[in-house]
Amino acid sequence: MNFDEYRGVWVFNEQRDGELVDVGIELLGAGRELADKLETELCGVLIGHNVSGLAAELFEHGADKVFLIDDPITEQYRTETYMKAAGDLVRKYKPEIFLYGATSNGKDLASAVATEVMTGLTADTTLLDVNVEKRLFEASRPAFGGNIMATILCKKHRPQMATVRPKVMKKPERQPGRTGEVIEETFSMREEDLRTKIIDIVRDTKKGVNLEEADIIVAAGKGVKDEKGFKLVEDLAAVLNATVGASRDVVEAGICGHDHQVGQTGATVTPKLYIAAGISGAIQHIVGMQNSEMIIAINNDPDAAIFNTAHYGIVGDLFEVLPLLTEEFKKALQEETEEGGVPSHA
Ligand SMILES: Cc1cc2nc3c(=O)[nH]c(=O)nc-3n(C[C@H](O)[C@H](O)[C@H](O)COP(=O)(O)OP(=O)(O)OC[C@H]3O[C@@H](n4cnc5c(N)ncnc54)[C@H](O)[C@@H]3O)c2cc1C
Repeated sequence: MNFDEYRGVWVFNEQRDGELVDVGIELLGAGRELADKLETELCGVLIGHNVSGLAAELFEHGADKVFLIDDPITEQYRTETYMKAAGDLVRKYKPEIFLYGATSNGKDLASAVATEVMTGLTADTTLLDVNVEKRLFEASRPAFGGNIMATILCKKHRPQMATVRPKVMKKPERQPGRTGEVIEETFSMREEDLRTKIIDIVRDTKKGVNLEEADIIVAAGKGVKDEKGFKLVEDLAAVLNATVGASRDVVEAGICGHDHQVGQTGATVTPKLYIAAGISGAIQHIVGMQNSEMIIAINNDPDAAIFNTAHYGIVGDLFEVLPLLTEEFKKALQEETEEGGVPSHA
């Protein structure tokens, strides 16, 4: 394999129903930094049907080129078609690095492409860098139960690939009017070639917990003990118009569902405010919330590890502190509304 043939940083820009998924835009920001260090191009990969109009958005977020496969057969995500489409592009244009969002489809596609083009893949990375001299991509992720960060290299194969969790990288600033080159490829697969058929699409209409998008999260740890303690967290969240998060121990105790879980095996969140009540601060929890803009921890143990990550700490019994906070926030927000202002959390 001649590594010198492989150039360019690529991002899989997943779209659903013609709308770009945010993590792809976030990765254009991270990809731009890698591409600049390597003095190479940043390219978006757009696969779907009637999606060519989305290329403009990719250019405005930093892409120099967009590889486009626009075909009715790729309208909905299927491993077979997307793996072939992305694999064909990789074989023809030889990227040096290929990034995917760690969504269900992104993870599925990345692992399929890795087997299709026989290269390595680092899953669920949280930190990306590059050794410019050796042109080696450094993809880091928590390992061994989150106790260490492992930096994983792909020394013998190309492209070097990674999936990256949503919300870990910051969206780049949009540069209106910035343009680039669209390279459209035709796609050879036909419906009769496929082993899978889409018979129906059933949408999940259940209103889930959207931790990733939340501006304020009040999260419960094992310190809440039971449903009664959890209710105090819910009460504060209701006043702040916040989303309720939880540690894994709370989920495992059956106090709330897994969709509330923050951390390595839950959601990665970046709210403006994260209030952690009765959470000890295990590394597996910290990796999911450490990029929050402001973290306030409530814990009755002054030595709890969470205080090393928190910007503000309240050493106290959450059964006393939470009702007080709820009452004070209620009053303050009410006063703000009465004075004719818009509550600052709205
Ligand atoms: C592979 C793997 C993946 C994992 N993934 C995750 C994950 O995604 N998310 C996650 O959260 N964990 C995860 N964990 C578990 C993690 O290691 C911890 O066990 C867990 O985060 C601890 O939850 P906790 O802080 O709620 O409970 P504890 O560690 O039991 O902490 C409870 C805290 O509450 C405080 N407290 C008790 N009573 C009160 C009170 N009355 N007032 C105030 N404070 C009080 C205590 O001082 C203590 O600090 C994972 C573990 C492994 C091995």
